[in-house]
Amino acid sequence: MSEERAASVSTGGELTGGESAAGLSLDGLSSGSARLVAAPERVARINLDAFRHNVRLLSDLAAPAETMLAVKADAYGHGMVPLAFAALEAGATSLAVLDIPAALVLRASGITAPIFAWMHAPDADFGAAAAADIDLGISAVWQLEAIAAAAEANAPRVHLKIDTGLHRNGASVEQWPGLVQSAMAADAAGVVRLHAAWSHLADASPADDEAAYAHFQQAVAVAEELGARFEALHLAASSAGIRMPEARLSFVRFGIAAYGISPFDDETALELGLRPVMTLAAPVASLKRVGAGHGVSYGFDYRTTRPTTLALVPLGYADGVPRAANGRGQVWLNGKRYPIAGRIAMDQFVIDVGDDSVAVGDEVIVFGEGRSAVEREPGSGVPTAEDWAGFAHTIGDEIVARVGPRVPRVYLSDDTEAAEGASDASATGVNAADTDRWVIADPEAMHDFGFGFASRLDAGDVLVLTGELGAGKTTFTRGLGEGLGVRGPVTSPTFVLARTHPNLTTGVPLIHVDAYRLGNAAELDDLDIDFAGSIVVVEWGSGLVDRIVGDYLELVIERPMGHAGSADEGGADTDEAGEAPVEPRVVTLHRHRQAEG
Ligand SMILES: *Cc1c(COP(=O)(O)O)cnc(C)c1O
Repeated sequence: MSEERAASVSTGGELTGGESAAGLSLDGLSSGSARLVAAPERVARINLDAFRHNVRLLSDLAAPAETMLAVKADAYGHGMVPLAFAALEAGATSLAVLDIPAALVLRASGITAPIFAWMHAPDADFGAAAAADIDLGISAVWQLEAIAAAAEANAPRVHLKIDTGLHRNGASVEQWPGLVQSAMAADAAGVVRLHAAWSHLADASPADDEAAYAHFQQAVAVAEELGARFEALHLAASSAGIRMPEARLSFVRFGIAAYGISPFDDETALELGLRPVMTLAAPVASLKRVGAGHGVSYGFDYRTTRPTTLALVPLGYADGVPRAANGRGQVWLNGKRYPIAGRIAMDQFVIDVGDDSVAVGDEVIVFGEGRSAVEREPGSGVPTAEDWAGFAHTIGDEIVARVGPRVPRVYLSDDTEAAEGASDASATGVNAADTDRWVIADPEAMHDFGFGFASRLDAGDVLVLTGELGAGKTTFTRGLGEGLGVRGPVTSPTFVLARTHPNLTTGVPLIHVDAYRLGNAAELDDLDIDFAGSIVVVEWGSGLVDRIVGDYLELVIERPMGHAGSADEGGADTDEAGEAPVEPRVVTLHRHRQAEG
């Protein structure tokens, strides 16, 4: 349980973590012309479209059973909050985390869907869980007593757990009737709402899972004989959710399959139609030409056999590249697989690239999404987390869940991944989907996000910025101005209402409007802005701009952790970088298309 707590805390750390996050959150936003992406760094790219594809596929498969998405352990290392939102967008109707602290983080980030938590230490804060309407998995009578003692006005829903063979938590056959009776009494007393019975399968073999399923049904029958009535029954995780239809019951608690990793030994994610979600990558940090017979890395387990080039990659076991893969691990570089040369160290590993042409900065992919079925012939193509599970004699779950806290998670969609390769800046402009979402780590990253966003805008575009004081609107616009290459530093336009920044290269100025003090659309109209010939950014423009222009973009900047601004409450636009507590922002781009006028 402390593990889960640490994981949810570490999300904050990653998201707010330093310059690497800042540079890399630009992926897919910077254009060919952008001078950006300063120091390339290690990164875990999380493709939210791939994740949503998987959630959709699995929830369609399980229907009419519903889908609860497991986002425990920081969403298996992918980042709990953004993945939770994406899961609910794609068809999940509830979320599962390990413990109450993680559930409270999800509630605080604005999630209203049911959240289920089932691992409770004796000092668990059941009062806070009840107040936040967290669904609680209950394995023992003392947990019901602790909920009663917390005496929270809101009675939480409880799901009684039967141990069907794993011998972890859950009531044994002997304990079960007592647990059911205690829960019925607590329900009658208004302390809890008895909601569900549930268990978890061992995935040992189909026969073992069938036996556990029978055991589960018997325990439910025992409870019903005692007078209990359950609104929901749940048993299956990914494995049984896919292969054991009768176990889907009210809902399936899907985890690993949604992250694009197969729960089976005999079928890959690709074969199941699932897309890997995480790509772990880092640039070549240095190159060294050596002769034959030189040892590489600790212990000299590897020796060069000819004059060759050694490439250093700044990822190690502290970043989640498992040392257990020594002698077997393979990575992808410039369209080719290379074995890792010598031992994986805490912070780095080496690959022997022979006489191949490799440059410092070239990207090394440790694992990611195999690019085509052809490449997915065993042993070819971009290695997957499943391949790494094979190299390290473990499961793919452990490969992704152990990617370390100093690797920034960067959230992408297919659009932004495709845009990475685009050389024409304007081609990365408005695209088909109606919304996109990013998580921005800190003010520096917000500035860089603005810089990269410049490649999306052209003359005639209107961008409304929506977000509370201190959200980072001006920081974004400052970066945008630099990305567009306009004259003059962008500062708050509060006292001038609108400031024009000419662009001597393109001739298309940036007009920066603060609509905070404008009463209505007519006053905005009175500013006589040349919308067609400019790029117009309107802070506080929601509800005004749509009266004047037809199509426009709106960026909504939110603080998922919900911290109130502190030093930045003084005026309409004092959201200077560094004044607000450093915390991630969730930025959503909406494309508004409506009839003119
Ligand atoms: C982790 C977990 C899940 C999800 O399991 P997967 O095998 O990753 O799908 C579901 N239920 C419980 C209780 C879990 O601990």
